[in-house]
Amino acid sequence: MNNTDEAVIKSNLAFVKQRIYTACAKAGRPPEDVRLLLATKTVPAEKIQIAIDAGETLIGENKVQELNKKIPLLTDSHKNIHFIGHLQSNKIKDVLKYADCIESVDRLSLAEALNKKLATDNRTIDIFIQVNTSFEESKFGVHPDEALSLIKAVNAFPHLRIKGLMTIGLFDADHEKVRPSFSLLRQIRDASIAQSLLAADAKELSMGMSGDMETAIAEGATIVRVGTAIFGKRMYPDSYYWNEQRG
Ligand SMILES: *Cc1c(COP(=O)(O)O)cnc(C)c1O
Repeated sequence: MNNTDEAVIKSNLAFVKQRIYTACAKAGRPPEDVRLLLATKTVPAEKIQIAIDAGETLIGENKVQELNKKIPLLTDSHKNIHFIGHLQSNKIKDVLKYADCIESVDRLSLAEALNKKLATDNRTIDIFIQVNTSFEESKFGVHPDEALSLIKAVNAFPHLRIKGLMTIGLFDADHEKVRPSFSLLRQIRDASIAQSLLAADAKELSMGMSGDMETAIAEGATIVRVGTAIFGKRMYPDSYYWNEQRG
């Protein structure tokens, strides 16, 4: 382990936590309402380990191959692994090796295939429904108009426990343009709970990243997924990592 890496990651973590704390205070929410998920795509296991040793437990990976390579190298029995990338049905067996939760369930065929495999394994996992609330074609997620019917259909699968919803906000430096992608996710959650499509405690809203976590927290995020602000810049644009077909 490199001492400089350790110092940088620890101070970045402290700064991100301060941002979360401040955003919660502004929104009148208790800080423990919002969990920090480390978005660790491309980050080597040694650097993730530094954050784990500093007390972080929630880790999110985008690619199945990277997940299965890095997670076994990490030590800490408390760690909780979420899959946050686009998932192809032919990678289900592999993703289930280490993932405790799949945040990116965005279509019925995927839910069906996951349920089938989990039934064989006699296992149940937590999932989120990913909704494309920015309406950008480059983003995955069910169309907001179809979210409720997808949730309803997924409820029929006994091996999947829906814990809430996930979205990637619009990419725009103007926070007021980003905000509707987050408020829409909250509205879909509230409507789903009101119609009993989601359990009253299935309240998770995974939304907000390095650039927009404050806006997401103001709109009700319960998990913010942060990579760059903790581990530094990545080599490629995000669209590269979001396309599972490329790796
Ligand atoms: C990369 C990624 C993040 C984190 O983005 P940063 O801007 O690096 O904080 C969050 N969610 C998903 C789905 C990602 O792919």
